Amino acid sequence: MKIQKQRELIIEFERVQLVRKKAKTHLIFCRDCGREVDFISLREASSLFTTQAEKLLQFVKINHTHFESGAGGEIFICLISFLACMKQKTNLSRIKLLKD
Ligand SMILES: [Zn+2]
Repeated sequence: MKIQKQRELIIEFERVQLVRKKAKTHLIFCRDCGREVDFISLREASSLFTTQAEKLLQFVKINHTHFESGAGGEIFICLISFLACMKQKTNLSRIKLLKD
């Protein structure tokens, strides 16, 4: 066998990274869901997703994610609608909510 020519190829590998984080939720009645569901505070969510709270709140408001304001002015985000919205917007079909 005689090698005639050489070529250089670029091969791309896509690696899937699984990140599992624990977060405390608050059971609050969601007016939009019509039942008691898990809510996460904006502060906890921004830490969980390593995103600035202002950007996260902007995402929540633009995408009509359910949220409630606590007595102290703290924002709580409905996890069900938030994750559904994230899946839709980011095409991250692998995001799932796991129980303990
Ligand atoms: Zn809701």
